[in-house]
Amino acid sequence: TTAIESDQRVVIYSEANQQAGLRRLQLAQDLEDALEQDGLMLYLQPQQYIDGRQQANCEVLARWSHPVLGMIPPDEFIGIAEQTGLIGSLTQWVIGESFAISEQLRRAIGEPVQLSINISASDLSHPEFSEWVIREAVSRGINPGNFILEVTETAHNQNQAMFQRNLIKLNEAGFMLAIDDFGTGYSSLTYVSDFPFSELKIDRSLISEMASSARQQKIIRATIDMAHGLGLVVTAEGIEDEATLKALATMHCEKIQGYYYARPMPVADYLAWVQTRIEAL
Ligand code: C2E
Ligand code: MG
Ligand code: MG
Ligand code: MG
Repeated sequence: TTAIESDQRVVIYSEANQQAGLRRLQLAQDLEDALEQDGLMLYLQPQQYIDGRQQANCEVLARWSHPVLGMIPPDEFIGIAEQTGLIGSLTQWVIGESFAISEQLRRAIGEPVQLSINISASDLSHPEFSEWVIREAVSRGINPGNFILEVTETAHNQNQAMFQRNLIKLNEAGFMLAIDDFGTGYSSLTYVSDFPFSELKIDRSLISEMASSARQQKIIRATIDMAHGLGLVVTAEGIEDEATLKALATMHCEKIQGYYYARPMPVADYLAWVQTRIEAL
C-alpha cells in the first residue's frame, strides 16, 4: 500500500502543479490583453509622518480585476509579468498613468502630492529604461522631484552595472529613490550605500513581529539608526495598530504606511479622503 500511497501523492502533486501552470499561462495571456485594454487600475495608499497628523507621499499600487477570476494579487501578476517579459510594458503603463494621476491630484488639491512608484529590478537591467522615463517626464512637463521610485533589492541582478547606471541617471534627473522591502532576503546596508537612495522602507514582515518580539524591536531600532547614519529617511510598512506606531516613534522612524493610517484606495476615494481630512482640520 505504501507504493500506492506514494503513487497517489505523486499524481496529486503533479495535478496541482499542472493546474498552477495552467493558471499562470492563462493569466499571462489575459494580462497582455488587460494591458492593451486598460484592464489594470492604480490605487493610492497614503503614508503619514509619525510626528504629526501631516500626510506624506502616497504609494501607487497596481490592481487587476480579472473578468472571470476576480482580483489577482499584484505579488502574483507582477511575478508573471517579470517571467514573461510583460513587465516592461506594465511598468511603462504604471509610470505614464502615475504621471497623469499626479497632474489630476495637483489640479484637484491645489498642490502636488508626492507619489512613490514600484519599479521592478528587471526594468533597471534594461539599457534604455532611465532615458525612457526621463523623456516621458520631460515631454509631459512632469517634475521628477514629485516622484519616488521604489526598488526591491535582489541578490542576483543579471546586470549590476546597468542597474546602477539607470538608478544614477534617474537620480541625476531629479527622481528620488527608495529601497523597498528592506529586511527580507539579502538586504545589506553596504549594498544600500552603493546607490543614491534617499529613503529606506522596512518590510512589513519585520514590523508585524515587533509587538510580540523584543529581539525584533532591537533589530528594527538598529536598522533605523544605521539608515539614519547613511542619511536615509525611514518608512515602516504594514502598521496595523497604535502600539506599533508608538514603538516606531520612540525609534525616530520618520514615516509609516499601513492599514492603521489608510488602506490602498482608488484615486476618487483618495480625493474624498483628503477632503474629509481638510474639513477635520
Ligand atoms: P510593496 O511595494 O512592498 O507594497 C506594499 C504592500 O503592502 C502593498 O501590497 C500594500 O497593500 C500592503 N500593505 C500596506 N499596508 C499594509 C498593512 O497594514 N497590512 C497589510 N497586510 N498589508 C499592507 P499589494 O498592493 O498587494 O502589493 C504587493 C507588492 O506587489 C508590492 O509590495 C510591490 O512589490 C508589488 N507591486 C504592486 N504594484 C506594483 C507596480 O505597479 N509595479 C511593480 N513593479 N510592483 C508592484
Ligand atoms: Mg513598494
Ligand atoms: Mg515594500
Ligand atoms: Mg515590493
